[in-house]
Amino acid sequence: MKFVDEVSITVSSGKGGPGSVSFLRASGTPRGGPDGGDGGRGGHVILKVNPQLNTLLDFRFKKKFAAEDGLAGEHKLMTGRDGKDLVLQVPPGTVVRDHQHNILYDLNEVGESVFLKGGRGGKGNHFFRTSTNQAPEYSQPGEDGHSRDIVLELKLIADIGVIGYPNAGKSTLISRISAARPKIADYPFTTLSPNLGVVRVDQDRTMVVADIPGLVPGAHKGVGLGTQFLRHIERTNYFVHLIDASGLSGRDAVQDYKDINHELIEYDKRKIDLEGFRPLSEREQIVVCNKIDTMTEDQKRDLAGRFSQIKVQVRFISAVSGQGVQELLFDLGRKVFENKI
Ligand code: GDP
Ligand code: MG
Repeated sequence: MKFVDEVSITVSSGKGGPGSVSFLRASGTPRGGPDGGDGGRGGHVILKVNPQLNTLLDFRFKKKFAAEDGLAGEHKLMTGRDGKDLVLQVPPGTVVRDHQHNILYDLNEVGESVFLKGGRGGKGNHFFRTSTNQAPEYSQPGEDGHSRDIVLELKLIADIGVIGYPNAGKSTLISRISAARPKIADYPFTTLSPNLGVVRVDQDRTMVVADIPGLVPGAHKGVGLGTQFLRHIERTNYFVHLIDASGLSGRDAVQDYKDINHELIEYDKRKIDLEGFRPLSEREQIVVCNKIDTMTEDQKRDLAGRFSQIKVQVRFISAVSGQGVQELLFDLGRKVFENKI
């Protein structure tokens, strides 16, 4: 089981510019020497690992990427401008495959490599002059670029895990905040499946939010398959603990909060001897009461008061109406990126 972001794209390097056929024209030299310059090189396709990135979101909505063609050579031996390289910025850990599943690159280290070379520029007629042909009337065309269909694949690590009882609104929240919903590969269960959302924080930064379904009392004993999902968030530093505050579940919101935390503690007890395991119950939780569109101000105040009695500060949102969601996102982004920079 793994969270994988996968995108198929086509990348092309640029064609070389053609060489020029030209003759020097100056007063007194009615037919001067050949002065056609060479064409410019087509742009390369370059893969660049950017450690600031953690998802493939930039490749999700655009599928074709091309470097520029080189420009034609010109008279007076002027070489055409090289085509601009296409630099594909990918996060560390990106695997580049072809459609036959061959791995072409496994990009872990920060750096750049040329994936497809741009076509060479053609030679201008100046290049072809010889002792027997002082005035060649021909030049070379530019070399073609190359095009490849590739698959980029990245194992995603959730920055934020959303925990909470079934029906708390986890999936609703994730779909509301996601800029993309990558497919989850190798997922063995069909009835309960985790959701993964790539959330755009600002122009350059995204974070990965995973919804962990099936966490119910008894999950640590295998009830509801909860522990299968908990494994996904063993490397996640922050949890949004989402609570149905509407009362429509027939349960009590404060009790729900305690129940889920009890499950985390039970899960930890079984894992605590494993090397490197960091208890889930000790991760920072952002406690969020959901469905406030169904509540009165008094009910909200009461509930906040009861949580503060157990020293828990809660915030309120409605995943359906969107109230409070932007503010939540903003704070989550700050937490995630404070530690990464
Ligand atoms: P999950 O099991 O935690 O993933 O919960 P879902 O996202 O599937 O939501 C369960 C139910 O609660 C659905 O019928 C949602 O429409 C509803 N729901 C989720 N968020 C809200 C909310 O903010 N207000 C209201 N009134 N209903 C909500
Ligand atoms: Mg769900």
